[in-house]
Amino acid sequence: MSAELRKKAVNAISEVPRVINVDERNATELYGEDVFGYSEMKRLLPKPIYKDLINTIQKGDPLNPEIADEVADAMKRWALSKGVSHYTHWFQPLTGTTAEKHDAFLEPSSEHTMKLSFSGKNLIKGEPDASSFPSGGIRATFEARGYTAWDPTSPAFIKRTENGATLCIPTAFCSYTGEALDKKTPLLRSLNAVTSQAERVLHCFNGDTSTVTASLGIEQEYFLIDRKFFNLREDLMLCGRTLFGNVPPKHQQLEDHYFGSIKSRVLEFMTEVDQSLWRLGIPAKTRHNEVAPGQFELAPIFEELNLALDHNMLVMEVLRKVADHHGFVCLLHEKPFAGINGSGKHNNWSLCSSTHGNLLNPGKNPHNNAIFLTFLCAIIVAVDKHGDLLRAAVGNLGNEHRLGAAEAPPCIISIFLGDLLSDVIDQIEKGSATSSKQGTHMNIGVDTFPVLPRDTSDRNRTSPFAFTGNKFEFRAVGSSQNSSWPMTILNTMVAESLDEIANVLEPVAGTPKFNKTLQKLLQSLVKQHKRIIFNGDGYTEAWIKEAERRGLPNIRSSCEALDVLLSKRSMDLFEKYQVLNHVELKARHDVYVENYIKRLEIEVNTAVQMVQTQIIPAVTQQLFQLTSTLEKLKATGTKAGYECVRARAEFIGENLDALPKCTTELTAAAKIQDTKVIKKQMPILRGIVNTLESVVDDDLWPMPKYLDMLFLI
Ligand code: ADP
Ligand code: MG
Repeated sequence: MSAELRKKAVNAISEVPRVINVDERNATELYGEDVFGYSEMKRLLPKPIYKDLINTIQKGDPLNPEIADEVADAMKRWALSKGVSHYTHWFQPLTGTTAEKHDAFLEPSSEHTMKLSFSGKNLIKGEPDASSFPSGGIRATFEARGYTAWDPTSPAFIKRTENGATLCIPTAFCSYTGEALDKKTPLLRSLNAVTSQAERVLHCFNGDTSTVTASLGIEQEYFLIDRKFFNLREDLMLCGRTLFGNVPPKHQQLEDHYFGSIKSRVLEFMTEVDQSLWRLGIPAKTRHNEVAPGQFELAPIFEELNLALDHNMLVMEVLRKVADHHGFVCLLHEKPFAGINGSGKHNNWSLCSSTHGNLLNPGKNPHNNAIFLTFLCAIIVAVDKHGDLLRAAVGNLGNEHRLGAAEAPPCIISIFLGDLLSDVIDQIEKGSATSSKQGTHMNIGVDTFPVLPRDTSDRNRTSPFAFTGNKFEFRAVGSSQNSSWPMTILNTMVAESLDEIANVLEPVAGTPKFNKTLQKLLQSLVKQHKRIIFNGDGYTEAWIKEAERRGLPNIRSSCEALDVLLSKRSMDLFEKYQVLNHVELKARHDVYVENYIKRLEIEVNTAVQMVQTQIIPAVTQQLFQLTSTLEKLKATGTKAGYECVRARAEFIGENLDALPKCTTELTAAAKIQDTKVIKKQMPILRGIVNTLESVVDDDLWPMPKYLDMLFLI
């Protein structure tokens, strides 16, 4: 039966109805039409209220509760004019997805009548029954109260379906007692920490008083497969990845998919994705085929970090929804298919000052270089001190199959700087170097820092944390992750090293000692922390050995990596910068570990179910066919072919016999959450099933193969 469905699905691909759903307007006309952005606020709000709100959004001034009613009213009028019937506080619980609970703009007015209403109170605060969200023990189930609080720095937007629209208000989510139950709250706190410490450091340079913001551009990788295939694979439906399956003889070896011409059906999908994102004010910019067949990438232009993160959550949602329109399923798992590349989410991160612009831009004049090199050193220090935290930041089950698989960065966290910057760092280490690679004469004093050319780095796709010209690219983040967590960690670590730098510089700021102190400080920081810099090939065995020699951690298991969160060093770090207190941090550890183990359990139970209800029956049928053939050959006295069929039956039978032992052990291990046994046995089970897939009659195989899923789109 399932084999028949597979054939049907394969045959139906050529008849897939194409969805043409293009808006003829250009990108700027569409842009932001479903966002309650600056222009709408300006148009609909009284001037003083608009000003107040802008100060909150741009300068981080506390929100004036008195203006909330007016803002809510303007928002309601705007939303109603756009056909919106409901509103929701949109938040990011620890599940890793987004959450929403809709309320109609409806309220009893007088007897038997209703009015449309939305007050400042509705805007600022919500109180969903939060009992079923993971809290990591912060709150007992009976204490259901959770509050959502409006984040005015991320604009409200409209989500549409064919049948109506909902106003979404980005919010933070916390418990009755004020603990963060979500990903946004600690993120906002970490932004506060890193930007204020950055401002302190900048202030040491000639009393600079600029404000600092963090920026983020997220490249999102994903797979598309036809929905008919997806529906026939329990593993994809339940685990997001295939638990069995062989790569076809040709997959990505020829690298002919990467940047290849995009198939029409996919391009139609991408066009609708881009237009949907533009309407939401998300600056989708780049789209292309990725390395693996069926794999693609989307990258928007970078934005203020908090906004970029909300936008990435929407990007993932839009990808999934639009895929559905087009008869696809969008797979965001880190490793949907074994044997070919998995998907990541490159986080391009930088700090930006209101007067100096991008602080990670090496720039042309030596004074800016001094600032640039100070921030560069701060990041080097942070990543060296807390590389294990960055590993923990990307520690989910899916990423475990991707990191270190010679296609994605390894589990060892290191920094790639490129030759030129490494040379500059070497000179800082020597303290008084007198030459640069370009051959110019220089002395590493603040006013004579080397003049750096714009394009200061090459590319190195094997590095987890690479300097790419004017920003750092954290490449280890998994494609399905909410990047808030990795960014919270990165911001907090960098806040600490900037704090320590500011502590040294502040006493000498504005004095003649400043240059010398800075020079000495950077020299000692480079000396202590340069082991984290690695410009070579991160995929090699040699690097693993070298990293070990340097004392850099190589934590392969995501679950083990999560334990770093519990170390005193981590606890103190998050507490010191008021990002997460001990209880909140431990809660995150517990939620992520539980999620990891539950997912592993689901994978085991899915694999066992598929083996028992699909694979064993199909293989048994094959065996029956072969043994019937053998009987017939015997009965007719036909010798030719007998041996071949017998050997085949024998081989298939042996593999069939090997299955129950594996499934029994796995089921038992899943029951007691023995992750060690599971991790050992799952590849064995997969190996047997894959062997069977490679010998069983194609017409009998009960589920879509990689060939079907990856090439028929
Ligand atoms: P790549 O060549 O690395 O694949 P892409 O163009 O796909 O580059 O993506 C690079 C991402 O980095 C984009 O989202 C881009 O807007 C972003 N980016 C560029 N400059 C900065 C910056 N200063 N801060 C943060 N992100 C940036
Ligand atoms: Mg890219």
